[in-house]
Amino acid sequence: MTQQNIITKNRDVSLDKIRNIGIIAHIDAGKTTTTERILFYTGRSYKIGDIDEGNTQMDWMEQEKERGITIVSAATTTFWGDVRINIIDTPGHVDFTAEVERSLRVLDGAVMVFDAEEGVQSQSETVWRQADKYKVPRICFVNKMDKLGASFENTLKDIIERLSAQPLPMVVPIGKESTFRGVVDLLTMQAYMWDDNKDATGIEFEKTEKIPDEVKTQVQEYHDKMIEVIAESDDNLLDKYFKGEEISVADLKAALRKMVIAYKVVPVYCGTSLRNKGVQPVLDAVVDFLPSPVDLEIIKGTDPITGEEKTRRLVGNEKFTALAFKIQLDPHVGKLTYARIYSGELVAGSYVYNVTKRQKERISRLLLMHANQREEITHAFAGEIVGLIGPKDTKTGDTLTDEGDQIILENITFPDPVISLAIEPKTKSDQEKLSYSLQRLSDEDPTFQAKTDHETGQTIISGMGELHLEIIVDRMKREMGMDVTVGKPQVAYRETVDRSIESEGKYIKQSGGRGQYGHCFLKIEPLGRGEGFKFINAVKGGSIPNEFIPSVEKGVIEARDKGALLGYPLTDLQVTLYDGTYHDVDSSDIAFKIAGSMALTDGARKAGISLLEPIMMVEVTVPDEFMGTIIGDLSSRRGKIQGTDKRGHSTVIKAFAPLSELSGYVTTVRSLTEGRGIPYMEPSHYEKVPGNLVEKMKLERV
Ligand code: GDP
Repeated sequence: MTQQNIITKNRDVSLDKIRNIGIIAHIDAGKTTTTERILFYTGRSYKIGDIDEGNTQMDWMEQEKERGITIVSAATTTFWGDVRINIIDTPGHVDFTAEVERSLRVLDGAVMVFDAEEGVQSQSETVWRQADKYKVPRICFVNKMDKLGASFENTLKDIIERLSAQPLPMVVPIGKESTFRGVVDLLTMQAYMWDDNKDATGIEFEKTEKIPDEVKTQVQEYHDKMIEVIAESDDNLLDKYFKGEEISVADLKAALRKMVIAYKVVPVYCGTSLRNKGVQPVLDAVVDFLPSPVDLEIIKGTDPITGEEKTRRLVGNEKFTALAFKIQLDPHVGKLTYARIYSGELVAGSYVYNVTKRQKERISRLLLMHANQREEITHAFAGEIVGLIGPKDTKTGDTLTDEGDQIILENITFPDPVISLAIEPKTKSDQEKLSYSLQRLSDEDPTFQAKTDHETGQTIISGMGELHLEIIVDRMKREMGMDVTVGKPQVAYRETVDRSIESEGKYIKQSGGRGQYGHCFLKIEPLGRGEGFKFINAVKGGSIPNEFIPSVEKGVIEARDKGALLGYPLTDLQVTLYDGTYHDVDSSDIAFKIAGSMALTDGARKAGISLLEPIMMVEVTVPDEFMGTIIGDLSSRRGKIQGTDKRGHSTVIKAFAPLSELSGYVTTVRSLTEGRGIPYMEPSHYEKVPGNLVEKMKLERV
């Protein structure tokens, strides 16, 4: 198997010749196919893999091949000319939003792929906003220009209307749908024509200054507009523009590069990955317009000792800093930690310091990951993305640095799981493997959690959606050879308090010998939805000695996690410890912990508790004739219809609906629409469960 081949090489790295990019898209827009073509053109992949046949290079995990979706971020290094492009694979399904987030955290730039018929779809919007959050400069590729109903123009309009971005068309398509055969590059005014008969691989194309008549007027108009937009960004160019002097392509490129990096415009290309047309100009654009690590000169973090802001520079004699952004268990090398190096140098065989975990880690080997082979290297430098072998306890989001000069980078935050299910090993040997397997899986995926329910003894796994958990269970079976039975998916409800209240907790036992004495007063206040939990210590004058404050907090947190209504954790509340009393002899950690727990549980019950449930943002794309059926069905699931959007021959129905009503929804939509409806869901927010349903749930528990 070629993946095991390891070549060893040392190399000179010129930082401005590196691009760390991600390819992001709505599911099915063609991200995998486009990535495949990029790997093919860049010469690292020897056969064009087709996602429909399930043999792609990036999607090496079995389930991904079967499902035809990309789940796990892998970093792949490839070359376009003398530029090294590191592609961080991002997942195409929203159940894996966290994967997208963590990839965006370490990227310098991104290629956003759209489906030319569908335009800007819901998930494109989500990832676009995420890329905004992480300030990732982008270029766009409008894919599937060969498809019936494809429209470059409409997609450009969508980018303005739905993403509020300023697209700059870089090409004009030649032909449309089945006659789509090339593009005119508006910068160089050259036409790229791909001839289906001449070369099926699409590597060869004719580059000509002869612009086909059918697009001449449009090309001129777009070209002029482009020059104007670019010239406006730069005083020198504007001067030339007004004097009617010609601006060189090199000057235009340089100015546009600055605009892209400053998020002012988004260059847009088009083509069809499947038919091998239009991908090479996108690769040129990655090199020309997306930032290199040099553009990110300074990285900000915090000094873990003083808590003050601290920076590291990419260049110069800086100490080592890196962010671990992905843990993968690799069949050949074991635990592989992907890290982005922000400053300094890393040498194979050396020790680094994990500031987040406060411990040393040995880096035994360093790997550059290509699509079909690994390259073992001895040194890695700032700006690079590498695979580390050796770290034992490093997790996603941890900062690795120099022990003598520490910095901690901003951690990656992950949303809380919204769904869980009970799993039970079938045999004794499965039972033995269980905790190891769950540990491995949660190491790899920070949005996956596993815990034991002490009351029932059951193992509960939680994640971001049904599909997420389905894949986890599948991996346990396949990769770890385990046989488990799974329960019904359970929604991750939360509890919250209805009003502010003051509450007393007293745990006092003084009957012979050493007694117990813990006594505290808490103020419990509701917070806004999604604000989580805060504990504030406002004890004055030592009414509770400092050493016992953490015990009260521990007790409060334990009670919070147990809930006070139906056993779901309490959230969106603030607890202030403001007073208490103690006893010189009898007070202890445990007594204060129990007092804290009692005060919270009693107080919450007196304040009144509401149950909160996760609400999903649901979008269903259906042919018009099924609209009524889907809207009716959603309404019967307590869904609130937000509106509908016409897109091509389909309608997109938008709604919010409780996750508890959506179990098996994907299958339902398929059967209601003769397989033609496409549902899309993502966790949106929490809302109160209607009182009558809470009563019903209470009865079911008894
Ligand atoms: P991803 O989910 O974004 O990774 O999308 P894929 O690359 O898996 O593509 C989804 C589907 O669209 C597959 O059936 C592809 O064969 C198909 N596809 C990809 N690119 C094109 C294209 O340029 N034209 C057409 N007609 N289909 C395409």
